[in-house]
Amino acid sequence: MTESNFQYDVLYLGSGHGAFNGAIPLAQKGFKLGIIEAGKIGGTCPNRGCNAKISLDIPVKIKDAVDAMQGRGLEGTTKINWKANVQHEKDVIASLPNAIETNLKSVGIDIIHGYGKLTDAHTIEVDGHKYTADKIVIATGAHYNKLDIPGIDLAHDGTEFLELEDQPKRMTVIGGGYIAMEFATVAATSGTEVTILLHHDKALRRFYQPFVEELLNDLTAKGVKIIKNVTPQSIEKNADGYVVKTDQGEIASDWILDATGRIPNVDGIGLDKVGVEYDNRKGIKVNDHLQTSVDSIYASGDVLDKKVGKLTPTAIFEGLYLTKLFSGVTSDAIDYPAVPSAVFTSPRIAEIGVTPDEAKANPDKYDIKEVNLADDWFRFALRQNEGHTITIFDKKGYLVGMTEISSEADTAVGSILPFIELKVSPEKMDDFITLFPTIESETKHHL
Ligand code: NDP
Repeated sequence: MTESNFQYDVLYLGSGHGAFNGAIPLAQKGFKLGIIEAGKIGGTCPNRGCNAKISLDIPVKIKDAVDAMQGRGLEGTTKINWKANVQHEKDVIASLPNAIETNLKSVGIDIIHGYGKLTDAHTIEVDGHKYTADKIVIATGAHYNKLDIPGIDLAHDGTEFLELEDQPKRMTVIGGGYIAMEFATVAATSGTEVTILLHHDKALRRFYQPFVEELLNDLTAKGVKIIKNVTPQSIEKNADGYVVKTDQGEIASDWILDATGRIPNVDGIGLDKVGVEYDNRKGIKVNDHLQTSVDSIYASGDVLDKKVGKLTPTAIFEGLYLTKLFSGVTSDAIDYPAVPSAVFTSPRIAEIGVTPDEAKANPDKYDIKEVNLADDWFRFALRQNEGHTITIFDKKGYLVGMTEISSEADTAVGSILPFIELKVSPEKMDDFITLFPTIESETKHHL
């Protein structure tokens, strides 16, 4: 903490995971902090992202589990009530912004509601009031991309999907990323006729493509229409609803989701005025200490131009790193651990560390083990035994990566993270006793 004439030691522009997870422990160390937020406290993830998405997905996962047990101890399938599911999701997230604000205030952090703009290297202006700080952290996140085609205003974004109270009969999804695949899964399992438009031949580009193809085949088997190498050209309203015109014909729809990615929030916050360097599509440029081109200004979360995934856990990691940096706990560069990622489809795909493609390209460095989950007794008990696990080991036998497609892939990959991050030796792994029988015990058994 420095003695200075500034009102705050640190001012955060934005209140999402890139800010609040780090701000709370920093305030507890005695730093004077302010957080500026134009929208809901907590940003994307709690209000219009992960928390809402996983809430909508819970009935999907349960329905799949019930369907799988038909004739095996369960009789009678179940049906998702769209309206009630969306209401449940809204109930889950409703209290989050107030809860986060209360936590922030309880450690003495000032919350400034309004739209902030940098006016110099130590000042942010909100509604005509100037707030000064020794250091500023830009954590403004990202917003949805809007496809540049005529009629795009007739389409909707992911936030609107999470608020959609009336189930569409036909939904067209443009894009094949996380949001496209997760929301297509929710809608299709709820009984909506879903069409996915991929502008190339791949979905979920960063995941292992043979597993992605399995996922696409599974969606197709559930009635989802997937059109590859298609270019949406315009959207029009007609008597029957909407139509997406493409170079491969017209797709009749009742609701259209534009899920073509997210753009960092770099516009209109004074970056040019104070000389913070950024790229419009990639985000704010920082050095290996998350410091921008202006010494007193740092950045964190989805607004960063970074190589690791723009995910909630990486935003939290960055916020906590800045806390350690500002409080003198570290002066080291940020050193990300292996970052796990999952797409919460049905089945899910989850991964961590060295990928199968990387391992196959470097046989002198890695050994690969593939397990067909059809042979796993516990998955058979769950009747969820379709899937594969690929584990990657270095030449000393240390686990360095895992990718799985299965209904439980998120749990399975989550269970082995410490082995990778703590570099647990093959011998030491035997010292970990798991609960039995669980997905965790079976995953460890397959290593
Ligand atoms: P993604 O970047 O994951 O995917 C964007 C998709 O849109 C890609 O399939 C891309 O295809 C396609 N696309 C891009 N431009 C066009 C175009 N002009 N026409 C048609 N299709 C196009 O974005 P999302 O919106 O799905 O997710 C945004 C971010 O949110 C993710 O990167 C992730 O960080 C985060 N997120 C994470 C989740 C999780 O962890 N489970 C869940 C939801 C979001 P192509 O690749 O072929 O260019």
